[in-house]
Amino acid sequence: GSDEVSKAQNAVQSGTPTIFSKIVDKSIPADILHEDEECLAFYDVNPQAPVHFLVIPKCPIPMLSSATKNEQVLLGHLLLVAKITAEKLGLYEGYRIVINNGPDGAQSVYHLHIHVMGGRQMDWPPG
Ligand code: ADP
Repeated sequence: GSDEVSKAQNAVQSGTPTIFSKIVDKSIPADILHEDEECLAFYDVNPQAPVHFLVIPKCPIPMLSSATKNEQVLLGHLLLVAKITAEKLGLYEGYRIVINNGPDGAQSVYHLHIHVMGGRQMDWPPG
């Protein structure tokens, strides 16, 4: 809930790493698909589709709502890495991209991430 939001934002302000910051600094392992100076793509540990990976910025933006004009280029880069990685994984029939934002969006990790899911027919609307 909103507790989670303030906890995550305080954590960022106080420099306490989220689980994704630990993946960025390699203090915990991940199955990495792409890495460059700005971002990382890695498989989700709890996949919701035959292919499910995440694209995250290396800098700890807590959520999409926290992003500003300063992050415009970075946000575009994350989407391009999502599509390039989807292509590398052979998702030629398509895929679903999701950004969960805040409590109503069911965001649980307060380090911005793009979900990319594919390898099966997606339904609409999502739950
Ligand atoms: P939700 O948990 O509701 O999907 P998020 O949008 O915040 O909320 O997604 C966080 C995602 O991070 C989840 O899909 C979860 O499986 C994934 N995840 C959590 N810890 C790790 C980890 N150590 N490595 C890879 N993926 C992780």
